[in-house]
Amino acid sequence: MPSRGVGIASAHWDARRAYGTRVAIRTSTGSLRLRSAGNWLNLSTPLGLALARLGRAEVRPGPRGLLLADGYRLGFPVAAAFTVGNVLLTPGRWDDLLRTRPGLLKHEEAHSWQWLACAGLPFLPAYGVCLAWSVLRSGDLAAHNVFERQAGLVQGGYRAVPVRPLAPAVRAALSRGLTASGRQRQFRRRQP
Ligand SMILES: [Zn+2]
Repeated sequence: MPSRGVGIASAHWDARRAYGTRVAIRTSTGSLRLRSAGNWLNLSTPLGLALARLGRAEVRPGPRGLLLADGYRLGFPVAAAFTVGNVLLTPGRWDDLLRTRPGLLKHEEAHSWQWLACAGLPFLPAYGVCLAWSVLRSGDLAAHNVFERQAGLVQGGYRAVPVRPLAPAVRAALSRGLTASGRQRQFRRRQP
């Protein structure tokens, strides 16, 4: 899918809307180019574009070398927006989202740096482990997920949730797992 005119040049237009006019943009053009090239080479941006195509999203150049995909229709993951490489996908429209949640672009852009830092696809298992840890610690998918915390919980639309004692949470998770595997065994026994 083409990334025609991907706009490092349009950085200031959207940065003013997304970050507020007084926020200085310190990221250099060189590092944005490095991120764009890196996320192409590590295959995360191609994966994001493939997902956009599968989800019949409309991709257009965004600010700072990002690609904005509107109207994603696959239904997974269930989120107002998510990022794969340099591709920021939403089931809605980015213009509408940023009108009501101007910090969301910055949050999703932080994820694009995380894809680069993870060298691409290893982001997925790493994110999964951190998500599981967050659920274990707090019962919440994001509150103690280091990827979401680093990207900014509030900007991502998440809330801070206090940690809970670890031992009872582990026991509960284990017993849920045992119950589920017991049910599977019973189900298999009932099969002809
Ligand atoms: Zn996020």
